[in-house]
Amino acid sequence: MQESDPLSDTTPIASPVIVPRPEHSISRANISENALKVLYRLRQESFKAHLVGGGVRDLLLGHEPKDFDIATDATPEQVRQVFRNCRLIGRRFRLAHVHFGRDIIEVATFRGSGADDAPADRCLENGMIVRDNSYGTIEEDALRRDFTINALYYDIEDFSLIDYANGLEDIQAGRIRMIGDPEQRYREDPVRMLRAVRFACKLGFTIDPATEQPLFALGRLLEDIPAARLFDELLKLFQSGYGLEVFEKLRHYGLFGQLFPATEECLKLEDQAFPITFVSRGLANTDKRMQESKPVTPAFLFAVLLWEPVRQRFNQLQTGEGMSANEAMLVASSEISSQQQPLVAIPKRYSLPMREIWALQPRLEQCDGKRPYRLLTHPRFRAAYDFLVLRAEAGEADPELAAWWTRFQDASSQERASMTDSARRRRPRRRRKSAKSGNDHQSGNELSG
Ligand code: ATP
Ligand code: MG
Repeated sequence: MQESDPLSDTTPIASPVIVPRPEHSISRANISENALKVLYRLRQESFKAHLVGGGVRDLLLGHEPKDFDIATDATPEQVRQVFRNCRLIGRRFRLAHVHFGRDIIEVATFRGSGADDAPADRCLENGMIVRDNSYGTIEEDALRRDFTINALYYDIEDFSLIDYANGLEDIQAGRIRMIGDPEQRYREDPVRMLRAVRFACKLGFTIDPATEQPLFALGRLLEDIPAARLFDELLKLFQSGYGLEVFEKLRHYGLFGQLFPATEECLKLEDQAFPITFVSRGLANTDKRMQESKPVTPAFLFAVLLWEPVRQRFNQLQTGEGMSANEAMLVASSEISSQQQPLVAIPKRYSLPMREIWALQPRLEQCDGKRPYRLLTHPRFRAAYDFLVLRAEAGEADPELAAWWTRFQDASSQERASMTDSARRRRPRRRRKSAKSGNDHQSGNELSG
């Protein structure tokens, strides 16, 4: 990827604005003890030491930062000499990780204009690892960052704020603005498109028109991003408490279809509201759990995001090829997962439970005999039940079936026996074949319509 020359771009960059301590709101009381230790220690050794990036941005906005990143003029080796508890990571651009138990403070040496932007440990080019330690000045480091609001430095020497990119103005205006020529910077690293959406949602900021406009056209560039990196970015996008808004924005810019083409195809073709309702409800549900500090698993999240193509294929395989429900679900889920994997690499520890959640959907329809008891002990029962409830709420699954399982879980053994017994008397369920398998969800009869 070609590097742009940040100094020749269109962003108005004057000499830095330096805001002295009494004139800004960042207080050391809000910086983690470990980050302060690293900053002070580097300073003691006569190196420059600054807090930078999301930490500074979030403190200025009164949010609690997720982590504290530090930028310095010390080389990684010099950082290692200062801290015993330090490891160097990254093959191409080395970074120092200072460990305090489980807390890690990342210390990066100022990058110059030759350094690569991709994450340090994923810099394979044509299969070759290229070490590119092009260090630079703080100005160069600032101008290589993505958005102006992410390029602010808090200087531990005099507690001032340093702004090379008009980031303070953009923070005040609630504006996401790319440093340099937006299109060129997206081309250098297309993940910046996802970051623009993420920060817009997370901070409630608007994306500046010149930064926004290329988003509509450059989605295809995401094809070149390693699938594992996209998975990491998607977790940040969807597991941060504002996943529904992220989904809507990604669709607005045509980026969602790049990441989930099979789902997008279903959302586009479907004239009835169900699939969007289902994904939206699933994401809203995850957002709510996040807000309540309840655990959310990527398995459930991806099960939601990919459900519609799985469901449609499941129906096709049953009606068109006469497969049993369990078999059709296995085949459909394996097909859709394999299609998705080259785009967004979902690690096995999440993709296996994701597929179990799907596999349990037809099994949850079997409420007679011993089967419901066995299902209750399945490690994925709870997630599969939650998934069924979501489907019922979205109007796709039978609300009575969901209610049956809700009751069954809390019922006495006597009540349970009578519930499975009446379920047995209701079986076998008659399956209506639908001519258009893609459009059958309104019939309300569980998966197959
Ligand atoms: P948060 O940690 O809240 O998600 P952040 O802004 O700290 O947000 P990080 O991914 O932690 O994001 O990156 C730290 C900083 O590194 C950013 O603020 C930005 O200055 C710079 N940065 C990260 N990714 C890129 C990128 N793809 N291109 C340019 N600069 C980047
Ligand atoms: Mg950060």
